Amino acid sequence: MKPNEAADLDNSEGIRNRPWQLLIVDDEPEVHEATAFALSDLKVLGRELAFLHAHDERETQDILRRNPDIAVILLDVVMEADDSGLRLVEFIREELRMEAVRIVLRTGQPGYAPELEVIQKYDINDYKTKTELTRTHLATAITASIRSFAQILTIDMGREGMVRIAAAGSNLFARRGLASFCEGVLEQACGVLKIEPSGFVCSATSNETPNPGSAGELELIAASGRFRRYQGTSLAALAGEPAVDAAWQALTARSSHNGRELTTLYLPAHAGPALAVVLDTRKPLGEVRSRLVDLFRASIAVGLENVTLFERLQALAFTDSLCDLPNRVRFVQLIDEQIANKPSGWVVGILDIDHFAETNDALGHNCGDALLRGVAARVRDALSADVTLARVAGDCFGIFGPNEKVDPDRLLDLFASPIDVGEHSIHVSASIGLVLLEQTVGNGLDAVKNASIGLNRAKATKRGSYSYFTRAMEADTKERVKLAHELRRSIDAHRLLLYYQPQIDLATGRTVGAEALMRWRAADGEFIPPDKFIPVAESSGLIRPIGEWVLRTACRHLRGWCDKGLQGFRIAVNVSIEQFRMPNFTDLVCSVLAEHRLDPQLLELEITESMAMDNIDIVMDSLRKLKQVGVAIAVDDFGTGYTSLGHLQQLAVDRLKIDRTFVNRLNRAMDGGEEGRRNLSSIPEMIIKLGHSLNLQVIAEGVETEETAKYLTALGCDEAQGYLYGKPMHEKAFDQYLHERGLLAIQRVA
Ligand code: C2E
Ligand code: CA
Ligand code: CA
Repeated sequence: MKPNEAADLDNSEGIRNRPWQLLIVDDEPEVHEATAFALSDLKVLGRELAFLHAHDERETQDILRRNPDIAVILLDVVMEADDSGLRLVEFIREELRMEAVRIVLRTGQPGYAPELEVIQKYDINDYKTKTELTRTHLATAITASIRSFAQILTIDMGREGMVRIAAAGSNLFARRGLASFCEGVLEQACGVLKIEPSGFVCSATSNETPNPGSAGELELIAASGRFRRYQGTSLAALAGEPAVDAAWQALTARSSHNGRELTTLYLPAHAGPALAVVLDTRKPLGEVRSRLVDLFRASIAVGLENVTLFERLQALAFTDSLCDLPNRVRFVQLIDEQIANKPSGWVVGILDIDHFAETNDALGHNCGDALLRGVAARVRDALSADVTLARVAGDCFGIFGPNEKVDPDRLLDLFASPIDVGEHSIHVSASIGLVLLEQTVGNGLDAVKNASIGLNRAKATKRGSYSYFTRAMEADTKERVKLAHELRRSIDAHRLLLYYQPQIDLATGRTVGAEALMRWRAADGEFIPPDKFIPVAESSGLIRPIGEWVLRTACRHLRGWCDKGLQGFRIAVNVSIEQFRMPNFTDLVCSVLAEHRLDPQLLELEITESMAMDNIDIVMDSLRKLKQVGVAIAVDDFGTGYTSLGHLQQLAVDRLKIDRTFVNRLNRAMDGGEEGRRNLSSIPEMIIKLGHSLNLQVIAEGVETEETAKYLTALGCDEAQGYLYGKPMHEKAFDQYLHERGLLAIQRVA
């Protein structure tokens, strides 16, 4: 017999109505008769008793081997040997590993009582001298033993079931989409209950009070077993079936139900429609399995909530909500799909509004937004349906379609007449760069890059014109080479600087950390923005030495502030994927921390969402090691990439950093009064909820106004960073900043 067989779920359900098995072991035949007679009409927990009889060790062993479900053994201590009984106890517990069966020892003489130690070691339930076992005593002892046997079974099943539920939970967490999650739910639910997979998960298609009986209004999300063949269809074909009624019942009553043949789970979801899970159990669930199902339901409800939040975030991750167009990520994806399919005959264009920044500054952001919407609408109307229009950057639109349907002259003509924006009528022009897909080597991103090179050429030649990308234009990359060259020299010439921007705990208003941001002052004294030189540093490999310099410098500065009394203050350092590719990156981090005698917890590494998720294998290992050391990890620009829940969990990050474009939108919406507020994107809210449900801290960057800060605080956002609290500042200025806030307790004597 396998160790846990006695505790097996199905067994216990199977023996539900069978009598309890009681094994009487005694070498005196009269004892058998007397015992059976004394207990003949006893019922325990509604079940009768059935007796098995053994008269010596060997016979007892045989019976035990054949009957794993025995509830109680009445065991004579002294039989052919003085310790026959005790040897049998050892055999039962150690060899057969029957842990649930209750043992009541009996002996003729008090002198043969076993030691207390033995009673404990072998979990002996009771010990009685035979004279003590009168009819009532015997009945009481047996009742108590059977009750405790039943309890042990319950606990064992519960424990085993809990293990399965825990496993089910983590399995489900890794699922990306709702359909996959629901398939998992079916699989895991049947696993927890140990039944053949058969059931379905559905939701009501409309939000109004469902109309029971019309199965067509139920959307089938996942199905297994006999329901499998309806997958991908509605449940109309099953109208009137008890299973469909059960689903309606759950959705209308908003409750779960254990029926005679079906078990229904109701799963509410705040971010989407509620789900009903219907399982073919074919018989009523026992008490234990009912409880397991409840637990299972509770544990997956959290997962469902996260999956729906994620699906919404991801849908948003592909759209630009300002213009309601596909965004850059989606645009590139569409091109990739076409490249995989048939690239020839397709063209990619980038349309850029000339001098948009000036217009935006002159008329205000709200007007700027309206202008972008106006341009989007006008271009969209002029394009045929099979041409994609996307918003790929602030004032840049992407156009992708068959060659003959994208006519740049016609597109430029669209700007001949002004665009109405509120009371203004604005004249704008646009420049366009294009590339024929068959001229692109590489993927969708390369195509967009090539079109941008075309755009730069057009702009350089004459605003309001267009230009097709040619190979020759690539020579412009020379410019980049020059930049890389200068950058290399700047490292040694100390023209790289590290600025610090404060991070605020929203609940207390205290500055709890800072992000280190790089600045490059080129030889001519001009500051080159990081958005321009970091991509160059990355593509030229320079980011490795530069990244190391950033890490060392940040740690050195922090050491300095700690020496001045700064406590529990965190420095966040941005890390590029190229750095993660270094085989010894973790060692480098550890040694720099040690060199500056810094607690690893004071260092946080920021890694962008897209970088982390696109390179999950490279990142995973390093992050795990860093985590072990105690270094904190933040996912930067969160909400712009395509993260899977499972990955997020696996990465074991500490903080999500809401991308500043979302926060920026808040800043502006707050400006826009009531209406703006109503149109508020809920992305920050979703990220905060998601983060907290995963036990992660959430920080918002780009907070510029008091209103935005209040709004984020009300949503429970933990921390904030942005111009409202301070722009990135030079180390000396930041020293002053800390000092003014009383964070530097000790002033160093010069
Ligand atoms: P990031 O990591 O997302 O950094 C935040 C950027 O937002 C910084 O731009 C910061 O100046 C800006 N910012 C902060 N608060 C506000 C605000 O309230 N409003 C607005 N509009 N902007 C705000 P910065 O310093 O120009 O850095 C740009 C990017 O360059 C960074 O984006 C980061 O990706 C990269 N970067 C900067 N330093 C490093 C570095 O040392 N290593 C690496 N690998 N990348 C870096
Ligand atoms: Ca950052
Ligand atoms: Ca960021």
